[in-house]
Amino acid sequence: MPNYDYIIIGAGAAGLLLADALGKDKFFASKSILVIDKDDKSKNDRTWCFWERGNGPFDDLIHKTWDNIYVGGQQLQKSTPIAPYTYKMLRGIDFYNHFLPKVKAYPNITWVQEEVTHIEEQENEVWVTTPSQTHTGKKVFSSLYDASIPLGQKEFPVLQQHFLGWFVKTEEPVFNPDEVTFMDFTIPQKGNTRFMYVLPISDTEALVEYTLFSEHLLEKTEYEEAIKNYIKEKYNNTQYTIVETEFGSIPMTCYPFHQHNTDHIFHIGVAGGWAKPSTGYTFYNTSQQVPKLVRHLKAGKPLSKFHQKSRFLFYDMLLLDILYENNHLGHDIFESMFKRRKASLILKFLENETNLWEELKIVTAPKPMPFIRALFKRLF
Ligand SMILES: Cc1cc2nc3c(=O)[nH]c(=O)nc-3n(C[C@H](O)[C@H](O)[C@H](O)COP(=O)(O)OP(=O)(O)OC[C@H]3O[C@@H](n4cnc5c(N)ncnc54)[C@H](O)[C@@H]3O)c2cc1C
Repeated sequence: MPNYDYIIIGAGAAGLLLADALGKDKFFASKSILVIDKDDKSKNDRTWCFWERGNGPFDDLIHKTWDNIYVGGQQLQKSTPIAPYTYKMLRGIDFYNHFLPKVKAYPNITWVQEEVTHIEEQENEVWVTTPSQTHTGKKVFSSLYDASIPLGQKEFPVLQQHFLGWFVKTEEPVFNPDEVTFMDFTIPQKGNTRFMYVLPISDTEALVEYTLFSEHLLEKTEYEEAIKNYIKEKYNNTQYTIVETEFGSIPMTCYPFHQHNTDHIFHIGVAGGWAKPSTGYTFYNTSQQVPKLVRHLKAGKPLSKFHQKSRFLFYDMLLLDILYENNHLGHDIFESMFKRRKASLILKFLENETNLWEELKIVTAPKPMPFIRALFKRLF
């Protein structure tokens, strides 16, 4: 059996960032590392967006940036700057094309393209099985997400941030390339939290996504119809071609994924609970968690102890409790927040960076009753 010190399962956002962080750090030069993915990572399978202050580590790979966002709703049409933040778009393929060759070139890293079919923890090592062989690792970092784990419990509700996106090219200039449509709730809500999300690259090119925060996925045709209707109504029935599509379903839950970590198997990325429960944004947090994990490893601390509690999880939990029970309230909550508070403050809050005074401002923006009810239900 091939033996490694570390095995990283999944060369996605979390796996590649972790592999790169370990590969470039001299501290790990003597560690043998296997990176394993079933895919060759040659497709543009997703687009990551995130916001950050000023320059950041991915700037050379960034496809487009925006300084303004638009939020629309029944009583709201707000175009607003987000300074000091910039909203940034990173295409999956640019990320893979940059990080995969880099990771493969580290002398202590081995790359294999195989599907992991079984992971088994032994006393001092872990067996990682693929159809052709079994690898052993002293520590395994797994980005394999098992949806049945959070769905198999009732204490923490599980919603999905699910969406279909079309990259479209229009015949006429209809988009404003200086502004992201962050959330447009003017579309029929049908008892859910549904909004359009538009990322314009130029005045004739944009990624248009129909997005829901809800429990169940829709039939593909329902997402497609919604995008068609939106383009027709919002952009004057302009003619367009679909250049690319993307689909995602990101878990929104406060389920404590970290409790499945042991000293030998550690879950990273979405599988590790690194997706923000109330929004599904994962990429930026992953880029923040990886260096912390590396520091933890260098300090020789047990992997099972890598977990930081945060009061933001409590805010996320209240919002998810509300949306799980009353999914139609989402548009009202988000609209009130954007109507009454500065967008930059909301982004700061969603990035878990606000202080208590700022959080009080945010939580008092929407109607209080749903939050008070959710709070009492949680406490008692
Ligand atoms: C279409 C889409 C758009 C998104 N947009 C955003 C966004 O704008 N902003 C944001 O913050 N987040 C976004 N997310 C959420 C999140 O950032 C991404 O899902 C991110 O890729 C998660 O990183 P990860 O490493 O956990 O998983 P992934 O990047 O999905 O990596 C998992 C890897 O594991 C591999 N794998 C799976 N099963 C096996 C197996 N059995 N054996 C071997 N390998 C396996 C896969 O091939 C994959 O390479 C988006 C997600 C999707 C799907």
